[in-house]
Amino acid sequence: MAPFKEEPVIRVGLIHDQETIEFSIENPFKLVSESGDSLTIHPISSQRWRVSLADTGSLRVENVENGEHRDFADSKWVQVIPHEMSDTLTTLHNVTIGIQFHWQRDEDQDFLHIMEFRKTGEKVLTAINQLPVETYLQSVISSEMSGTSPLSLLKAHTVIARSWLIAQMKKPPHKDFLVCADDHCQRYQGMKRFTKIVGQAVRETRGEVLTYQNEICDTRYYKTCGGVSEDFVNCWPPNEVPYCTAILDEPGGETTPLPDLTIEANVRAWVLSRPPSFCNATPEELAPVLNEYDKEIPDLYRWTVSFSNEELSRLVESKSGKKIGKIKSLIPRRRGPSGRIIEMDILGTEDTLHLDDQLEIRRHLSESHLYSSCFVVDTEGGSKGVPEKFILLGGGWGHGVGLCQIGAAMMGLKGYDYQQILFHYYKGSSLTPWWK
Ligand SMILES: [Zn+2]
Ligand SMILES: [Zn+2]
Repeated sequence: MAPFKEEPVIRVGLIHDQETIEFSIENPFKLVSESGDSLTIHPISSQRWRVSLADTGSLRVENVENGEHRDFADSKWVQVIPHEMSDTLTTLHNVTIGIQFHWQRDEDQDFLHIMEFRKTGEKVLTAINQLPVETYLQSVISSEMSGTSPLSLLKAHTVIARSWLIAQMKKPPHKDFLVCADDHCQRYQGMKRFTKIVGQAVRETRGEVLTYQNEICDTRYYKTCGGVSEDFVNCWPPNEVPYCTAILDEPGGETTPLPDLTIEANVRAWVLSRPPSFCNATPEELAPVLNEYDKEIPDLYRWTVSFSNEELSRLVESKSGKKIGKIKSLIPRRRGPSGRIIEMDILGTEDTLHLDDQLEIRRHLSESHLYSSCFVVDTEGGSKGVPEKFILLGGGWGHGVGLCQIGAAMMGLKGYDYQQILFHYYKGSSLTPWWK
């Protein structure tokens, strides 16, 4: 892929497959449909509109206050195009964020540029925001990290969010839009959390991406490594990615030998201690860099989760759809360099379940997702090889490949610049301008 002549425009999926979607807008806008119908609207104040599918299959846009509506026939989509696209906010109501993660919730969100409502099923609609990449990044950065974070962190984050996005264009992860707005792709929660310093971070790195041997890097990131990051190949096999291999998350950690966390006894000592690391930070240090919903977990560096045998059995059976019976043990079969379990057996009284993916392991051991797959298991009570209770003692939050957001934030607070942060987590990479 070669650098672009100009800044690209992208499409982001916001609300998926809903029967109705509501929005408000204060300034004049045009409704334009696929078949070419168009209607200009001058809202009196902030009016609320509802988009749905009429019985005829037409797209219906209705004024919620007075019920007046307009149907758009023979169209798969209708777009809201504000006259002043870069200044006018379109508010979407009740957008779900953190889907299937522990912090899932609904909120109203504000967006710039074009909003499209698209028929994505017999009776359902999807809201898609169409906008220039740099504007999208302003929101991503303030959704992933707090807008009060150090500038060098925000700049590093902008570069990786931009690089990741461009890398997706080769093989788009979604059908009707390039990326979704949640953790599956990158958090994009509208303009509400935007701050001046976020604007500065995006402006000062405009068009810059991270490359390795002239290819855009697949810049993965996550919340906290727990002390050591993970090899790309252990999360997304089969290929090694040279700039995304395990490092010790401390000064000079790119070249320091790692503790051998593929050995059980070493992992146990590791998660039961708090070795120094960029991401071993106190809640006071973290206060300015995390968004409110990320502060609800008391400790991201080391954590404990426990289950009764019944709870765990119910969870594993519901996630796997397999009759496992009571749980006899959880056996790690293979660990990566960060101590994350890559392969695991769950032994039950009725059957055994073999899992060979860190995300699957995390999904099976939690209602949503376990913080990470770096953990050791203690048991309590029970008899005949069936314990009463399982205690998981773990470290880190996320897959551990690439940049550690908390570590990078602490590097920023300690005075490292954004290049130093990027070259610490992505060994041997370079910064390259991709558009002006
Ligand atoms: Zn996605
Ligand atoms: Zn870290």
